[in-house]
Amino acid sequence: MRHLCLTRHLMNRIALTALTFVLITLNTYGIKAPKYIFYFIGDGMGLKPVQMAQAYNHTVLANSEPLLMLQFPAIGYATTFSANQPITDSAAAGTALATGHKTNNGMLGMAPDSTHLTSIAVQLKQRGYGIAIATSVAPDDATPGAFYAHVPHRSQFYPITQHMAQSGYEFFAGGRLRGGSPTGKQDARSLLCESGYTIIDGPTEWEQKKTAEKIVLLNDPRHDNDDIAFVVDSVPYSLTLPFITRACIEHMQRVTPHKFFVMIEGGTIDHAMHNKRPEAGIQEVISFDHALRYAYDFYLKHKDETLIVVTADHNTDGWHTGKHSAEFAPVMAIGVGSELFQGFQDNTDIPRKIRYIAKIEDK
Ligand SMILES: [Zn+2]
Repeated sequence: MRHLCLTRHLMNRIALTALTFVLITLNTYGIKAPKYIFYFIGDGMGLKPVQMAQAYNHTVLANSEPLLMLQFPAIGYATTFSANQPITDSAAAGTALATGHKTNNGMLGMAPDSTHLTSIAVQLKQRGYGIAIATSVAPDDATPGAFYAHVPHRSQFYPITQHMAQSGYEFFAGGRLRGGSPTGKQDARSLLCESGYTIIDGPTEWEQKKTAEKIVLLNDPRHDNDDIAFVVDSVPYSLTLPFITRACIEHMQRVTPHKFFVMIEGGTIDHAMHNKRPEAGIQEVISFDHALRYAYDFYLKHKDETLIVVTADHNTDGWHTGKHSAEFAPVMAIGVGSELFQGFQDNTDIPRKIRYIAKIEDK
């Protein structure tokens, strides 16, 4: 343990020195804060799932072009350990990626001593950015939750949904809500509706209701699962991550065209790997990459005003253990300030760099 602590201490020192160096360098040049920030998080999308998806893309799909994320000019790596474990869960990792602070496994938007941590989404909202939080799993799950909730445990879905309703964010999307009140008096849908959200059930309802101001896009109820369907299961009426991402960008361009922040999570990558279905997981990585293309197309039209950051919260080994592991997470970026994400860093550095680039104070 002593050795581990020393190693951690050293790694923190190295990461901090590297971060200070790049921040000073960037400050010298000076940049304009990007108006549009996209944060793509592949849950469980460590280097191996990315590598295997690229092998599939090249060999089976015979695509001579690499996955889009691999074509981004800034490539780095991130350590993912949590405050109390060398191997993180998605709550601690999500908190690190959303707030820039380590916490214990299971805790969401809170430090180990239960003080509330501030997500970059909240800070950006205070500065006039529209906010969208979308995922291929439940919208009250750990990774999306880290951007709006503060709970001692990730399974506390009722308070998580209350925080979602209170957030004022313009767009949420995911499979299914789980956070009704424990007494059964209030379900999650009414909680959100009372706070001004319009709930849209699946792709077929999207066209009819998409002009609402604040949206929660959920899956078609015929798909009886908290997650959207895996690509390999090709359920015809299910949402897909590319559909969610396209809908999200369309909505944000309509309601908050001057500036917005979008977080897209590929949560089904992790769930396929937990099920030891790497063949399904590979397709989820490819679907995540297709979703990324919508952000990239947006970037091509707004190059000087857009930043896209892609990373993973941790690796999930779908081939052997079906469990999380401590490998470095890949980090890939393009656009305003993207060079900051090159090289070795800790996962907490990623939101701190986004803050720096967006010219908001570090918290
Ligand atoms: Zn997991």
